[in-house]
Amino acid sequence: MSPTPRPDPGPLAPGADPFHEPRRDDCPWCGSRQLRTRVRAPEGKRRTPGTFVFDECRDCSHAFQNPRPTPDGLLLRHHQHPTQAHIRSNLAGRLRRRHHRVAARAMLPYPEPESWLDVGTGHGYFPEAAREVHPYTSFDGLDPTPRVERALAAGRIEEAHEGLLTDPAIVARLRARYDVVSMFHHLEHTADPREELRAARAALRPGGHLLVEVPDPARPFGTLPVGGRWPWKQSERPRPLHLMPLRNLLAELESLGYEVLTTRACAPLPPRAHRIIARRATQPSAPSAPSVPSGPSGP
Ligand SMILES: [Zn+2]
Repeated sequence: MSPTPRPDPGPLAPGADPFHEPRRDDCPWCGSRQLRTRVRAPEGKRRTPGTFVFDECRDCSHAFQNPRPTPDGLLLRHHQHPTQAHIRSNLAGRLRRRHHRVAARAMLPYPEPESWLDVGTGHGYFPEAAREVHPYTSFDGLDPTPRVERALAAGRIEEAHEGLLTDPAIVARLRARYDVVSMFHHLEHTADPREELRAARAALRPGGHLLVEVPDPARPFGTLPVGGRWPWKQSERPRPLHLMPLRNLLAELESLGYEVLTTRACAPLPPRAHRIIARRATQPSAPSAPSVPSGPSGP
């Protein structure tokens, strides 16, 4: 489907950085002002200009890119991300494919899904692998780039949604349609992971399942630079906007009305990751925690 048009931001103020928002001085997760810089590294030639800075909250341990890229900066990063055309041909690609099948099998103990939405699907390689495990499930894909249309053309998904899950038009279109929503190394790249989880809940049918994999912030090898240098080639990995401690993520899921069923460590490749399976409860179990504005300019 066509991406939802965004309003024209208009001309930039002289000297404004079109790719980064103003730096914020509070934690986007808990609002604390007790921040420390965890990593500072120069941006590469193919990245948006400036310096990459990752701050960490001393109170809740949430870590985040600060300043955060603007929506245009994010889109540029998505387009710079590699095409994954090599996914079958090299060792990393084969390992990832095997990992996709293992992740799909993690849903076998639960009722067979009729409909499954893979968020951040890219070329649709996860649905392609997962279909071997769930042959009667209909897989749809959502991605901010036109890659999702190519996934559709290649027959890896049945419906393509180009855009952001948090876009109100997409939320309205997908509301309560899916038995499973999956996000593999997607949440940490979103501007507001809380909003993303809330939108995923809206896309789930009551009793539907959320399958999430996110990097372990304690072992972010490959996700953050080491000693100011990136361990991977500049073009090979998109950078996270957030690294969420597992306890923060689980508490958030419960406050949003999910019942957390399993968590386990998994790591096809660095970085080490957590896999979480949660069920959409019929009603939220507790009132949602007050949300901290997602950016310096508010929600
Ligand atoms: Zn915090």
